[in-house]
Amino acid sequence: MEMTEKKDIVSLLPDQLERELAALGEPKFRAAQVFQWLSRGVRDFDQMTNLSKPLRETLKEHFLLYEPKVLSKQVSAIDGTIKYLWELKDGNAVETVVMSYKHGNTVCVSSQVGCRQGCAFCASTIGGLVRNLEASEILDEVLFSELDSGKKISNIVLMGIGEPLDNFDNVMRFLALVNHPQGLNIGMRHISLSTCGLIERFDELAAQDLQLTLSVSLHAPDDETRSKIMPANHGRGVDNLIRACQRYFDQTGRRISFEYAMIDGVNDSPEQARLLAKRARAVSAHVNLIPLNHVEERKFQPSTNANMKAFIKILEDAGVNVTVRRRLGSDVDASCGQLRRKMQRKGGAEQA
Ligand code: SAH
Repeated sequence: MEMTEKKDIVSLLPDQLERELAALGEPKFRAAQVFQWLSRGVRDFDQMTNLSKPLRETLKEHFLLYEPKVLSKQVSAIDGTIKYLWELKDGNAVETVVMSYKHGNTVCVSSQVGCRQGCAFCASTIGGLVRNLEASEILDEVLFSELDSGKKISNIVLMGIGEPLDNFDNVMRFLALVNHPQGLNIGMRHISLSTCGLIERFDELAAQDLQLTLSVSLHAPDDETRSKIMPANHGRGVDNLIRACQRYFDQTGRRISFEYAMIDGVNDSPEQARLLAKRARAVSAHVNLIPLNHVEERKFQPSTNANMKAFIKILEDAGVNVTVRRRLGSDVDASCGQLRRKMQRKGGAEQA
């Protein structure tokens, strides 16, 4: 079928685009023109007005263009955080969040439709993995969030739905696209990639020599607790995770950040704080505490303020660099996975 043979042109880097267009007999500069249109969010060849009509027709025959549709857009009355639910070309949906900070606007993007990592406190993994996102689809989350909101995006966090290292090649291509000087040109130092700890991909990531920040979702410093709430800990283990972090730090010189969602009675004891401090110090990691967002389908509750305070004090007294993540968009289901879940419950377009 002709439809399925069409190539995803938005996932192509300029040099690949050059080769594709050369095969159609087009000169090099055409690739730069097309890449520029695509990077501005043009998703209709007929709007590429500096291309000849016959060329536009040829492009339509060979390449696919799709513009993600806003299925839902919620704007927080408290802090202006915007949460988008986008409809993809196959009817699946993913979430993107735009947050405004003093230093600029950050977009939180999804990397997969659903997730297969199974973290017990997370909404994104209910229903499992549906499919990987294409590089173009991740790029479009950034681009169309910026175009729709009118907010210039300066920072990207890969902390939405999905496990980025489980979609390694497409995520690497997305990073190259979004970082490209002729594209959105967002610097790697303004990008964070969050993982549940797929350590078998750490060396490969380090080898890419990117200056991004690696965030590791630790959530527990001991195997017993971590394996209970994060199936990804099985067969890997905290000791191996810490060793992989050490190696990553040695290879890249980039300090790792540990994400730690504070869950009442699960991972917030003083003993766990002391062990976390030891783990963090061993790899010079920064610790980012997140008050757990309660998810309707999940039994977990956030830690009490008193427990959080005591936990923070133990970390600080041990000389660990700690921050507590501000809760943005608490009125718009801003922890990822929740909006997509709601739509699924209502029997929306998607089948998970
Ligand atoms: N798969 C990646 C990125 C997605 S989630 C990862 O595991 O890191 C981004 C962060 O939000 C992770 O640290 C994740 O563990 C955390 N998270 C998931 N559900 C949460 C919840 N209900 N409350 C607080 N943080 C949560």
